[in-house]
Amino acid sequence: MTPSTTLSGDLFDRARRVIPSGVNSPVRAFGSVGGTPPFLTSAKGALLTDADGNEYVDLVGSWGPMILGHAHDGVVEAVREAAGRGLSFGAPQAGEVSLVEEVVRRIGPVQQLRLVNSGTEATMSALRVARAATSRDVVVKFAGCYHGHVDALLAEAGSGVATFAMPGSAGVTASTARDTVVLPYGDREAVTALFAERGDEIAAVITEAAPANMGVVPPREQDGTGFNRFLAETAHAAGALLISDEVLTGFRAGKEGYYGIDGDGWAPDLMTFGKVIGGGLPVGAFGGREDLMALLAPSGPVYQAGTLSGNPLATAAGLATFAGLDDAAYRVLDEASVALRGLVADALTTAGVPHVIQTAGTLFSVFFRDAPVETYEDAKAQDTEAFTRFFHAMLDGGVYLPPSAFEAWFVSTAHTPAVLDRIAEVLPVAARAAAQ
Ligand code: PLP
Repeated sequence: MTPSTTLSGDLFDRARRVIPSGVNSPVRAFGSVGGTPPFLTSAKGALLTDADGNEYVDLVGSWGPMILGHAHDGVVEAVREAAGRGLSFGAPQAGEVSLVEEVVRRIGPVQQLRLVNSGTEATMSALRVARAATSRDVVVKFAGCYHGHVDALLAEAGSGVATFAMPGSAGVTASTARDTVVLPYGDREAVTALFAERGDEIAAVITEAAPANMGVVPPREQDGTGFNRFLAETAHAAGALLISDEVLTGFRAGKEGYYGIDGDGWAPDLMTFGKVIGGGLPVGAFGGREDLMALLAPSGPVYQAGTLSGNPLATAAGLATFAGLDDAAYRVLDEASVALRGLVADALTTAGVPHVIQTAGTLFSVFFRDAPVETYEDAKAQDTEAFTRFFHAMLDGGVYLPPSAFEAWFVSTAHTPAVLDRIAEVLPVAARAAAQ
């Protein structure tokens, strides 16, 4: 039975009068799948409740941060305690130091890190540092990789840009776009050719450590060399930098991010983080080599700042989240991810729905096509209509999936076997809907 959405519908009507498309981030509007987005009132563990009182098993996890589940007792208590000591100081505080120390301890190439308020700010600032360090302008990115809504990085981006089939964004100046070169993901020949032709103009290559914004497309090895390592070596040979974006994969794909999975014998120069490190509050971070980070103001010439950066509530939430992210937590995440992938594969196979499930550590996504996805073009070639039917049947059955065929699915340590059983009940119906 389709759940009632009367109150969510009323809220959506009100919202659309005063907020563009009724939402503060595009994919939330359900534009590509249609229907009324549930307006949420509360969340606990793996479950969401909407304004009409419907309950859903959550597979979005606020797009990544809620790795310990919603309203985790330790995280909530840490934020409550921090709030009692003051909401924002605009001055240094101990939580910033501890949170940065935690990241530096886990991620080898990060010698220094600066906290910002979003992943977008992190990639924007990393680009600025790279351009300053190299005195060059050109940035290379890959089609299907999303790095936030930074002007220079919106061309052929994944995530919402993919969901709405946009080539980029209006409002980005031609000169900004000219300084961004977009290459097909994984195409080593294209990278080599570009560097041969314009190597001395390139400030940096930026890539998702494992792309997860066109669905999950893990980097592939070739002749024993991973794609990220190949990028680092190619960039360095030309005096350019590699920026590895781990906003999504960081502390999600595994305990040391995706770098912990393929970072052996090479290192990016700069890395970006977000999502998990803020435990659900607004945080991003960029960091890397100490000599590069020394370029930042006030000691260096690269200006970068933030009224709320290093906010005490955000750092408390991040630290409490890290406190819960021990080896046992990653085992639980992995088990949940493996079990859910198995359930989805069984249901889709039984219903005869072409699909491919791709993984990067504990991250995964489901493509509605029958061949592996290695590029953005492959990802776009999936059956998005089948996904839409699947999505709505899951939602009607009480499972909240990302409302786009181009997104990863997010589990948490609260996705226990009992929670997965609830998903298992709905999957056969949704798979049959997808097959129609
Ligand atoms: N980089 C990656 C890889 C992301 O997945 C995202 C967001 O999904 C961002 C950057 C931007 O982060 P934010 O939405 O916090 O600005």
